[in-house]
Amino acid sequence: MKLIETFQNTFNRDPILKAKAPGRVNLIGEHTDYNDGFVMPIAIQYVVTVLAAPRDDGHVNLYSVDFDAHSTFNMDNEIPHDETQTWSNYERGVFAGFLKRGMKSIGADLLIQGNVPIGAGLSSSAAIEMATSVALRTLNNFDISQVELVKLSQEAENQFVGMNCGIMDQFISGMGQAGKSLFLDCRSLEFELVPFPSDDFSVVIMNTKVKRELTGTEYNERRSQCEEGVRILQKNLPDIRALRDVSVQQFNQYKDELPELVCNRCTHVVRENDRVEQFVRALKAKNSARMGELLLASHSDLRDLYEVSCKELDLMVEIAMGVEGVIGARMTGAGFGGCAIAVVQKGREKALEDVIMVQYPAKTGIQPEVYISAPSDGAGVKMLNQ
Ligand code: ADP
Ligand code: MG
Repeated sequence: MKLIETFQNTFNRDPILKAKAPGRVNLIGEHTDYNDGFVMPIAIQYVVTVLAAPRDDGHVNLYSVDFDAHSTFNMDNEIPHDETQTWSNYERGVFAGFLKRGMKSIGADLLIQGNVPIGAGLSSSAAIEMATSVALRTLNNFDISQVELVKLSQEAENQFVGMNCGIMDQFISGMGQAGKSLFLDCRSLEFELVPFPSDDFSVVIMNTKVKRELTGTEYNERRSQCEEGVRILQKNLPDIRALRDVSVQQFNQYKDELPELVCNRCTHVVRENDRVEQFVRALKAKNSARMGELLLASHSDLRDLYEVSCKELDLMVEIAMGVEGVIGARMTGAGFGGCAIAVVQKGREKALEDVIMVQYPAKTGIQPEVYISAPSDGAGVKMLNQ
């Protein structure tokens, strides 16, 4: 059934707008965002769609097509969490974010549907937040910029959902552009949309289909190890605020003061920031050999020093690197499962997919998924003719 019909059947009325926001994949710059550093994601062709119509009774009715579930609250009361329909807390957090900015939303009927794989590290959560944000801005005629919606969406996830993520996911979901990768400074939020040479290269996303428990704990542990590194390095480098402020050269000069584990973690972050800047240059020059080296160096530091890879991600990268036309590959996202990416010569995507679909299950007993996506547009709204 078409989504509009589902809306009509659910709410007995027509939606007035359709909002869309994409998931994302990070090409390079992993675990750098919360260190005030650099990242380089693309928005992907997988999206969350929100259909919306306004209500004048203050009620907000949410319907998730994918979970076939409802969640309801009223704008006249404080917005509560929904402990049963936890998917709705992302949308609720966005309503709360507007409210915090003095923008009280009118009531609304909202339908939510998505094809961003959930929990695979492709940021279906940011896609929901951004799709809801742009939908509410249009529905209410709120005067608020796209970048402010990005921040509002991150806050929804940090403060309402309680997931302490960086700004990257919402930023690329909100600000991505077709054909471009996003070089983002996570401190200043300065960014450059760098053309991705889609005539030469493709990005292939390989989902290991594994997800480790304890990911949240490990994530918080890495964050505090980086902070500890900064505290110790500040004795010699008093002006630094985050690992982003430390050059590779400075780091090599003072790293011996760090405990071994902290040193390993910081080594990855300092080098990874440098790799992002180098990757931007390599991409602009279409220097595939250099791009490949940087992707592989990123993977090995994440595996050996930051210790956030796992055997399935390592295997994915190893299989990919054995396929002709693959320029480079690495794990992407927080780690411990989720997805790896490969950058491949144009035309070699299917060959890689075929090999992954045979070799990965043969070695793990797990059926993987492969997604091929050109860099896509960020969140936007289309008015529907009534
Ligand atoms: P991801 O890596 O995909 O962002 P998260 O755990 O951060 O994983 O977010 C996934 C959560 O986002 C889901 O558990 C659900 O609550 C919400 N979500 C994602 N996609 C949808 C969808 N299509 N419909 C409703 N909720 C969704
Ligand atoms: Mg998420």
